[in-house]
This record gives sequence, structure tokens and C-alpha cells, in this order.
Amino acid sequence: MWKEFKAFIMRGNVIDLAVGVIIGGAFGKIVASLVNDILMPLIGLLMGGVNFSGLAWQIGEASINYGMFLQTVVDFLIIAAAIFFIVKGINQLQKKPEPAPAEPTTKECPYCFSTIPIKATRCPHCTSQL
Ligand SMILES: [Zn+2]
Repeated sequence: MWKEFKAFIMRGNVIDLAVGVIIGGAFGKIVASLVNDILMPLIGLLMGGVNFSGLAWQIGEASINYGMFLQTVVDFLIIAAAIFFIVKGINQLQKKPEPAPAEPTTKECPYCFSTIPIKATRCPHCTSQL
């Protein structure tokens, strides 16, 4: 039982997963701070100090807080856009140079039209001098 558990824990992907979760959590805090502390005040400024979160309809006893919903949608769009640009940037950094097209290593014999090595001076099929 213990051995099985140890084998499970020591599998590389469990540790990778744990690192991913921790990094993801820390990264989420950065994005949340970016949205709440930098982007939202700027957007509020651009919109003339409008804060969606206070908007609500009163219907009898019920309060329809559509402002909170709008705020959440805007937050989501900003976070999605931020992650899109970050992932795009990372992909750009990781983009490897295109591999050079492989040199041809074979050619066609002009006499028998067999495929032969490019360095051949005599065809191995029809023995013609090339
Ligand atoms: Zn040939």
C-alpha cells in the first residue's frame, strides 16, 4: 500500500501537476491584481468614473444586481484577453526556426529511370555510366 502510494507520488506528472497548480495560483493573483488595481481604474476613468457594480434594479423585495454581472463579464473578458496575449507572447518566444528543407539524396537514372543515390557515377540497375 505504502509502496504503491510512493510510486504514485514519485511519478513525474504528479509533481509537474503540483507545480502547475502552484504556479497557476500565483499567476492568477498577478492577473487579478492587474485587472483590479491597474485595468479597472483606467477603464473606470475612461468611462467617466462609471462603476458597474452599483447598478441594480429593484423589483419588489428582489434586487437584480445586473451591474455585478456586467462587472464579472468585463473582468472575464479582460482576463481572457490578458491570457491570450501572454500565451501568444510565450508561443512567439518558443517558436523554433523552420528546419531547412532536406537535401535530396537520390536522383533518377536518365537511362532506366530507377531511383539511385545522388553521388552514383554508374547506375546500379542498368550499369550505365552517368
Ligand atoms: Zn539506370
